[in-house]
Amino acid sequence: MKIEILEPFGYCAGVERAMKMALEVKKAHQDQEVVVLGMLVHNEDALNELSKAGITTIYDENKSLVELIDKVDNNAIVILTAHGHSLAVEEELNHRNIKFIDATCPFVTLTENVIKKAVSENRDVLYLGKKNHPEANAALSISNKVHLIEPKNVHLEEKYTNPLVISQTTFSESEIAQTISFIKDALKEVSVSESICQASTLRQNALKNLSKDVELIYVVGGKNSNNTKTLFEIASSTHPKAKVLMIENANDINKKDLLGLNYIAISSGASTPREITLEVENKIKSLLN
Ligand code: SF4
Repeated sequence: MKIEILEPFGYCAGVERAMKMALEVKKAHQDQEVVVLGMLVHNEDALNELSKAGITTIYDENKSLVELIDKVDNNAIVILTAHGHSLAVEEELNHRNIKFIDATCPFVTLTENVIKKAVSENRDVLYLGKKNHPEANAALSISNKVHLIEPKNVHLEEKYTNPLVISQTTFSESEIAQTISFIKDALKEVSVSESICQASTLRQNALKNLSKDVELIYVVGGKNSNNTKTLFEIASSTHPKAKVLMIENANDINKKDLLGLNYIAISSGASTPREITLEVENKIKSLLN
C-alpha cells in the first residue's frame, strides 16, 4: 500500500502568520479578551486551537464584519483575519476605541494595492471571486468601480473604463484562464493582473502532477475553505478514475473506502494544520493494519 502526502502541506505562510499573531497577542494579554472578527481561517481544527488558547471567534455568516463589531466588548483586542477587510471595519473599530491587530495576508494586501492603484487611475476592476467570501468582500469594498465576476456565472456590463481583471488569491489557474479568455473575447481591451498566490498554485500543481495510478485522493480541509474546494475540483477533474473525497480530519475516514486499494494520496488546503494531515495518514495506516 502506498500512501502519498502531497507537498506542500500544513499552513501556508499567510495562515501561519495570522495564527502566530493571534496566539502571541493572547499570550501577551492573558487578562484581556482577544477576539477574532470573522473566521481567522476556514478550518474548524485551527479555530479549535485558537479557542483552546482562550481566543474567541465572533462569526455569523449573515452579518457583515462591521455589524459583528456590536458583539465585541470595547476592552477587547480584535484580530482581523488573513482574508482582508473593508476600510469601514477599521473606521468602526477606531470610532469605538477598540484596539485591533491586522493579520491580513501580505499576498491579499498586494492584490488590494493593485486594485486601489487601478481605481485611482479611474479604471474599472473586474474581480474574479466568490460571492460573500471575506476576501472578495474586502476587495469589493475598495470602490464601486470594483465589480464581482463569478467564474461559474459570468455577467458582463457593456461599458467598463480600461478594465483590469484580477482574482481572489485561491482560485485554480485553469478556472481563471477560461474566464479570462471569455472576458478578453467579449471586451477586447482588457489587462490582467496575476494574483493567485504560490501557496494555492503549488498545492494545485501537486495534484496535477500526481500519478494517474492513484486510486483514492483525500482532500483535507475546512468545508468553507475556498482553496480546499478548488483542490477537490482539480483532483476530480485531473483524476477521473480515482475516488476523490473531501474530509475535514481523520474522523471522517471510512474504512470501507480503503479496502482493496494500493495507492492513496492526501492533498490538503492552505489552512489545514500539518498535524491534521499527518493524523489522516496515521489513521489510514492503522485502519489497514
Ligand atoms: S492561501 Fe495564499 S493568499 Fe491566502 S492566506 Fe495563504 S498565502 Fe495568503
